Amino acid sequence: MVAFWFNIPLWQRVIAALILGVIAGQIMGPDAQSIKWIGDFFIKSIKMLVVPLIFFSLVSGVAAIGDISKLGKVGGRAMILFIITGQIAAWLGLMLGTLIKPGAGLRTDLIDKGETPVPNETTAVDMILSIIPESPVQVMADAQVLPLIVFALLIGIGILMAKEDGKPLIKIFDSGAIVMQKVTMIVMELTPFGVFALMAWVSGTLGFEALQALGWLVFLNYLGCILIIGILYSAMLKFIGKVPVIDFFRGIIDAIAVSYSTASSNATLPVTLRCAQRNLGVSKSVSSFVISLGATINMNGTAMYLGLATLFGAQIFGVDLSWGHYGLIALLSTLGAIGAAGIPGAGLIMMALVFGAVGVPLETIAFVAGVDRIMDMMRTTTNVSGDAAVAVTVASMTGELDKEELISTDDV
Ligand code: ASP
Repeated sequence: MVAFWFNIPLWQRVIAALILGVIAGQIMGPDAQSIKWIGDFFIKSIKMLVVPLIFFSLVSGVAAIGDISKLGKVGGRAMILFIITGQIAAWLGLMLGTLIKPGAGLRTDLIDKGETPVPNETTAVDMILSIIPESPVQVMADAQVLPLIVFALLIGIGILMAKEDGKPLIKIFDSGAIVMQKVTMIVMELTPFGVFALMAWVSGTLGFEALQALGWLVFLNYLGCILIIGILYSAMLKFIGKVPVIDFFRGIIDAIAVSYSTASSNATLPVTLRCAQRNLGVSKSVSSFVISLGATINMNGTAMYLGLATLFGAQIFGVDLSWGHYGLIALLSTLGAIGAAGIPGAGLIMMALVFGAVGVPLETIAFVAGVDRIMDMMRTTTNVSGDAAVAVTVASMTGELDKEELISTDDV
């Protein structure tokens, strides 16, 4: 029985839980409230991960940049492109969420307002002061994400500056990040139960409106990713990289197929590297540096999704957001995407980071978890194509691109 359960891939169990939860909710009606605690258990478990996960993975992500002085023109250009595309992606998610309002139809009184944190009106000066951790330990104890991120980034930079002396710490943080990924996998095993209970609660009290809202979210996730790949990447390749866009996409078709089916940038990494070197004509040094780093920190699909999902949560739970909050969401979505591991469902956990900072209830995570896999597949394809696109662009800018190879991909 246990073996049978674990033999079914997690995402299939989650989708089954979603469907069964909706049915159970329809049967139980408002009584479904009685099993909501199972969903709360799941949410609490996710909250538990946030601080150590952000801390270890962000520090190890920054340290992965390697030696600051050796970064040179390739690393600098790649980082700039990663950050700019990440910001554009996050703002695109915010724009789609604002224009189309996927969660608006669901705005409900169901939510216990007492539990819903309301974002406080803060001035710019308060904001600047609040990102500096007065005490890193306090910041961790209170799970204040923004100062925690600042602290993690500083530690990462300090490690890079310390060169040889920083190496032992890199090992510790890398190992911590891997351990946290394993712990995350354990918590993810709770997802089917959490999703079942929360979907039953949502559908028992709200009915099919909830599913409609989720349908909109999935649609917007795909639309956003298609816009990123079709417009943002194409423009970058054409105008900055000055390479033929169609040939680029023909060359990465294998990576697209693998990323879509595995929903993991890490698992796709060997295929992306092979495509970049053999079909796109990117030199070995540029491709291995940019694509390996990109698989860890360049996740535009995830950044877009974090922005979109935060607005979705704000809409269903009636949290009012100011322009200041939008800026904060865009910033945190980009940082969350940097901190997210290249594994299935990583974006889902990173939601806790963004939501917590702007007062969107974490219940949203369990609500969208049922359809996350289907969105994750497209996010990952966007993330992986972005790594290859930046590698080609940087290689072209630095004279490390064999354009003949890129154009003749018939022998793929
Ligand atoms: N699964 C994604 C990736 O590996 C991360 C995410 O969940 O958004 O790129």
